[in-house]
Amino acid sequence: MSILLFRPDAVMVWNNEEVKKRLRWYRSVMLNKTPAKFMILKTIPVDIDLRRASEEELWRLNDELHRESLKLFDEYFEKNLKDIELKLAETSFLDLKIELAYRMIKRCYFCEWRCGVDRLNGERGVCKLDSKAYISSFFHHYGEEAPLIGTEGKGGSGTIFFTSCTFHCVFCQNWDISQPRGGVQEAGVESDARKLAAIAKRLRLDGAGNINYVGGEPTPNLHIILESLKYLDVNVPILWNSNMYMSEDTMKLLVDVIDIWLPDFKYWSNECARRLSKVGGKKSYREVVTRNHLLASENGDMIIRHLVLPNHIECDTKPILKWIADNIGDKVLVNIMEQYRPEYQVVLKPNLYQDISRRPRGEEILEAYNYAKQLGIIYEPVS
Ligand code: SF4
Repeated sequence: MSILLFRPDAVMVWNNEEVKKRLRWYRSVMLNKTPAKFMILKTIPVDIDLRRASEEELWRLNDELHRESLKLFDEYFEKNLKDIELKLAETSFLDLKIELAYRMIKRCYFCEWRCGVDRLNGERGVCKLDSKAYISSFFHHYGEEAPLIGTEGKGGSGTIFFTSCTFHCVFCQNWDISQPRGGVQEAGVESDARKLAAIAKRLRLDGAGNINYVGGEPTPNLHIILESLKYLDVNVPILWNSNMYMSEDTMKLLVDVIDIWLPDFKYWSNECARRLSKVGGKKSYREVVTRNHLLASENGDMIIRHLVLPNHIECDTKPILKWIADNIGDKVLVNIMEQYRPEYQVVLKPNLYQDISRRPRGEEILEAYNYAKQLGIIYEPVS
């Protein structure tokens, strides 16, 4: 039995016209008026033999069907779910995406580390995961942004925490699951696609407003998350809560599936990303994360999170806010987060991380808020 909590701000937030406009798709799915994207994908037929097709053919078809799905999303948004009969295809666009994910993991390039390891055969890259997924916990989360708390401020965000991460942030508050000392498989319970679907279904039936895949980082579990949606038979918005370091091909799989994005935009300076999150893939943090924010904002609703770090207002906070305002400021909401506190390596090795060894000061947070306001960024309803 779930404990029923209530967040009044989660009701009031929908009185804000900008929130309603910018999260219109997500809200409609949350209220069960519109089918989630993964439900629509299951109705789009694919008439080639997925196992036999070349990877090139599969990607070509993914691009074609992406365009078709955009039209269908618009069409379904105009109707009401209760008036729609969703006919499942024998082999669908979702199956195509699952097949592609299982091809990618054989020389893994889910994220921009591009480790190239065969995870299906037990090899492991930077995230230290083979092909199995481990869930450390799942619950109705009442601490997320107001629009994510569910209908009428109840139900929470149906959050599923995976172990492991593609970053190694020295200040990680969840280090015990993202970088566990005993190994990623020790910090959670192994889950396959059917179990993951059953967890998501339970969360939704108990009132969750969305299914929130997080960690650590959900990206290394892409194949199992996509496969689980095949077995998920309740309508619910799918939320991607991520560091956004995915490869462009992973983005191509996700853009037709994710109803609402909840990305972190942590740094502007690549040097800060290297030093504080150990980001060292083949492409720089900024190049990858700006690309993926653009792709996501073109394809779905979005609340961007930026955690204000002490002493990093000039090198990170301000240029990030400026980039958002210049590129996607008219589409997204931004949560400017003030809750940073020293944790993990910052506490263990304070001399190495002196710059972030304290909480941000009130004036630093105010400076971030004032700058966002000056740029016209919508942050107040979700910060
Ligand atoms: S998910 Fe990323 S870090 Fe993990 S093996 Fe694949 S490319 Fe490497």
